[in-house]
Amino acid sequence: MDKILVIDDSAVQAEFLRSILRDDYDVSICHTAKEGLLAAKDGSFSLILLDVIMPDMDGFTALRELKATELTKHIPVILLTSLADEQYEERGLLLGAVDYVAKPFSPVIIKARVNTHIHLYHYQTEFKQQALVDDLTGISNRRCYEGASVAKWREAVRFGLPFSVCMFDIDKFKLYNDTFGHPAGDQVIAAVAKTAGAYFQRSTDLFARYGGEEFVAVFVGNDARASFEFLKTIRQAVEDLHIKHNSPVCEWVTVSVGGVSLVPKSGDSYETYLKLADTMLYDAKRLGRNRVVWSNAGKEQWMEK
Ligand code: GH3
Ligand code: MG
Ligand code: MG
Repeated sequence: MDKILVIDDSAVQAEFLRSILRDDYDVSICHTAKEGLLAAKDGSFSLILLDVIMPDMDGFTALRELKATELTKHIPVILLTSLADEQYEERGLLLGAVDYVAKPFSPVIIKARVNTHIHLYHYQTEFKQQALVDDLTGISNRRCYEGASVAKWREAVRFGLPFSVCMFDIDKFKLYNDTFGHPAGDQVIAAVAKTAGAYFQRSTDLFARYGGEEFVAVFVGNDARASFEFLKTIRQAVEDLHIKHNSPVCEWVTVSVGGVSLVPKSGDSYETYLKLADTMLYDAKRLGRNRVVWSNAGKEQWMEK
């Protein structure tokens, strides 16, 4: 059931709205704008009904704040106002409200408008979601990675957490395509994504298709040694798929992996460590492929085999 937040200083109005909507929605009520702004940040609401005239903060100010806050800016807001405030309608819409409802409400009208905006919200959310997913593999795409990786990096800096980034590249994949055809190659990319992706299950993990036959993973909490071991397991799982290859260097489809783990400090640059992960990948290729090479961003480097 979708959650709706009603922010209205009038208990009577708020309860009336709840009575209209409660059969179809889970309605929460806040009686001050401040309380409402705080409640909205939990990110679970599909719609906010916001009163314009409130003693602690007017609805326009609250709306501006909702639209300026990362956690709430996507939530549609319907402004509630008495007919006397009609001149404010334009102002509210310009500030980003999706609709305007005049008091006293007609239950039928308010329900219809709420239903419409909830539907639109679902479409929009699904559309945004699809824009972040890679069609071939169903995992996160490059765009998703670009947005999420730096956010994860900043979080690691803030909380002093070990942070890891690694690059995967399927070995001798051009030859695979040349031998078995591009559609078969596509299936291999999907199979590798599924197998490796299954290991990145924590909510803080990110595993994405970087492009072509390359993948990238970002995760927090593991030190370099643990990350190296973790990625060895994943590399082995890909090899264990036993997808026949035709290369003199690899009997099966395999991946090379390069990564780095560190506890980032403010002032460190994510790009520097992404480049270092890429250098580790290059070393893995150079040393014979189908192996993991890992760095702790200091002097140490671990190489498989
Ligand atoms: P290496 O072990 O050094 O990585 O060799 P490689 O052949 O894998 O590397 P290279 O970069 O020369 O070739 C990558 C190949 O991946 C070339 C391209 O045809 C193939 N490829 C990239 N994207 C796709 C895709 O979406 N589908 C398929 N089937 N092949 C792809
Ligand atoms: Mg490549
Ligand atoms: Mg390759």
